[in-house]
Amino acid sequence: MSPTRVLVLNSGSSSVKYQLLDMRDRSRLAVGLVERIGEESGRLKHTPLAGGGEPRETGGAVPDHEAALKAVAGELKRDGLGLDSPDLAAIGHRVVHGGMSFTEPTVIDDAVLAEIERLVPVAPLHNPANLTGIRTAMSLRPDLPQVAVFDTAFHTTMPESAARYAIDVRTADEHRIRRYGFHGTSHAYVSRATAKLLGRDPREVNVIVLHLGNGASASAVRGGRCVETSMGLTPLEGLVMGTRSGDLDPAVIFHLMRVAGMSADDIDVLLNKKSGLIGLCGDNDMREIRRRVDAGDEQAALAFDIYIHRLRKYIGAYYAVLGRVDAVAFTAGVGENAAPVREAALAGLEELGLAVDPELNAVRADGPRLISPAGARVAVAVVPTDEELEIATQTYALVSGESRHTSAE
Ligand code: AMP
Repeated sequence: MSPTRVLVLNSGSSSVKYQLLDMRDRSRLAVGLVERIGEESGRLKHTPLAGGGEPRETGGAVPDHEAALKAVAGELKRDGLGLDSPDLAAIGHRVVHGGMSFTEPTVIDDAVLAEIERLVPVAPLHNPANLTGIRTAMSLRPDLPQVAVFDTAFHTTMPESAARYAIDVRTADEHRIRRYGFHGTSHAYVSRATAKLLGRDPREVNVIVLHLGNGASASAVRGGRCVETSMGLTPLEGLVMGTRSGDLDPAVIFHLMRVAGMSADDIDVLLNKKSGLIGLCGDNDMREIRRRVDAGDEQAALAFDIYIHRLRKYIGAYYAVLGRVDAVAFTAGVGENAAPVREAALAGLEELGLAVDPELNAVRADGPRLISPAGARVAVAVVPTDEELEIATQTYALVSGESRHTSAE
């Protein structure tokens, strides 16, 4: 029998998240996380799901990604799921930036590695960590297909009118400055899962996807293809996020350089790490912000209002981009859990056919569900995202030679 398991790796600068899936029934056999790689004390949390075993936690220093992956391999081996197993079909890697070079999941070889490396200047935080994870996995199983699934790939269908910034074309082209978009695996999965929830073919459906997690992005998807998204050259553009500012006048940066004497690196940290909700009110967790709002905290209330105002502007803009909207889908940590955000985002938009049923919105559930009133012109849905399943499905489809099908189909 041909192998059916896929290991999904998401390698960050100091962490590795992993899931082992069996693609016969898309079940999870094990999930886990290695944190604080390179620090004095690391941590590995491993949860075997196949045999119903207990979660295991190990401490101690994890000096680098190689040590992290070896520790993961050791835990999997304990469950009889080792990386040397003949049942393992491939390893699927999340890669943040694929530029315009990668529009599809891609089997990794030296040329692919070199191209991911070439894209480091446009993804200095993410691509190096992704590369380290890939190289380590390749050294552990050199014979196994390793597949890169890119966060940018789903957005490569954006028309030039949406993808280009209105700056000097030669400068833009020379430095590969354009809007790439991120969270593409999630937008792809959720837009298809929304069509499925409506019982319709994704090719017939126009969806606005709102991926609201600690990072946040919106996309406009026409008939299964992305036509616009809110993140740009980097994940800084667009919505107000947990710690990122999202959109601002670029002149704010020159102003901070000239008037506040800040360096480019200082401003990078300010806008990526100390802005957004945390910059506005000191908290980036929507649960805590809502608790403060309910307790009458004005600073938290203003942060919430700014967050919602930006989100509504994007919903309106994407409505205009699409012309006809069949569904609005909320996903990720905030989108799936924060009913007040969903309610406020669409309040007063009945003229656009958009409404949220308060009772349906208040229901807490794990699966995809509709929260719009019966008979609403535009469906409003909560659709839990599943980037690991999407990466595993795309990886498996590629290596098993199946026609490309995706997890929400
Ligand atoms: P993600 O990046 O998708 O994992 O989302 C993480 C964010 O989701 C957290 O920072 C919280 O702001 C938010 N979140 C998670 N659970 C809840 C909840 N029950 N209610 C409101 N927000 C939540």
